[in-house]
Amino acid sequence: MTKATDNASRGPSRSDIRLSFEFFPPKTADAEKQLWETATQLSAYEPAFLSVTYGAGGSTKVPTLATVRHLLGMGLPAASHLTCVGATKEEVNAVVAEFQAIGVKHFVALRGDPPGGVGTAYQPHPGGYANAAELVAGLRGLADFEVSVSAYPEKHPQSADVAADIDMLKRKVDAGATRALTQFFFDNDQFEHYLERVRRAGITIPVVPGLLPVHNLAQVQKFAGMCGATVPAWLAERLSPVDDKPQERTAVAVELAVRQLEDLISRGIDEFHFYTMNRANLVSAVCDGVGLAKVDRRPAAGAAA
Ligand SMILES: Cc1cc2nc3c(=O)[nH]c(=O)nc-3n(C[C@H](O)[C@H](O)[C@H](O)COP(=O)(O)OP(=O)(O)OC[C@H]3O[C@@H](n4cnc5c(N)ncnc54)[C@H](O)[C@@H]3O)c2cc1C
Repeated sequence: MTKATDNASRGPSRSDIRLSFEFFPPKTADAEKQLWETATQLSAYEPAFLSVTYGAGGSTKVPTLATVRHLLGMGLPAASHLTCVGATKEEVNAVVAEFQAIGVKHFVALRGDPPGGVGTAYQPHPGGYANAAELVAGLRGLADFEVSVSAYPEKHPQSADVAADIDMLKRKVDAGATRALTQFFFDNDQFEHYLERVRRAGITIPVVPGLLPVHNLAQVQKFAGMCGATVPAWLAERLSPVDDKPQERTAVAVELAVRQLEDLISRGIDEFHFYTMNRANLVSAVCDGVGLAKVDRRPAAGAAA
């Protein structure tokens, strides 16, 4: 992020800003409880949707399905991520039917990582959807689902170049995707240049910045290394000295994320996807920091349980 951030009055009004929040399926009872609390807190910002990742760490559909079902049961607009790794089209379609049966209308459709890990070659299943564009087309052929897809401002690590990446995004849009959610990034200039190239390629759908307020610098550096994102030196320089001071670390992380968000708003962006890490504190501090409206979703005093 290099452009000045003192121009926050420019750009869309705060009341026009739309948010979405990404979660992963919790693995323990405590983590579950934390997620439901996080979802309740963040629902105060009236997000367009809350999405739940799929198959992370080699897991199956089961934890994602359970998490999405719970969020829908809380009356929240839950969307499910879906990958086509290692499955036939029939198997993927059967999974889609299960999600549809619990009320899912929105998928984040992804090719997914190879079972051997990010660095290994991707082999499509012989009877499966070969890539994310085919998966999008498959989903749209099954029902009138809303379909979001991924986008990579710094290029996907497997991709030859940004042009190949944008070509794949175009194929996903042509197949019926209506929104792209980006990999997290910290350099808004780079995002803006990417967006200009996307628009020049004739892609008109919203390309929604993925924002990751930093809870843990080492973990973010590790993720970034795996997914081809960059953690700029200035960010590490601000966060490293407060790494073992939780209160100061939180304050710096919020300050940096607020600056990034303010700056993106000033550039005319009005939709944002937060990687929440299943925690509400940083994300809500950032949303409050830029003055986003929220509603009180706590039950009224005396309301029936
Ligand atoms: C918002 C978001 C959410 C995500 N959620 C999940 C999730 O829930 N579960 C999960 O497992 N992963 C998730 N991922 C990670 C994603 O699965 C990986 O990045 C995966 O490697 C690519 O999937 P994709 O749909 O982005 O691929 P695509 O859009 O199909 O491809 C991405 C780029 O990689 C290049 N590429 C693809 N295949 C090849 C190939 N065979 N040879 C050369 N280049 C190639 C293309 O240029 C393309 O632009 C998510 C990523 C993002 C950005």
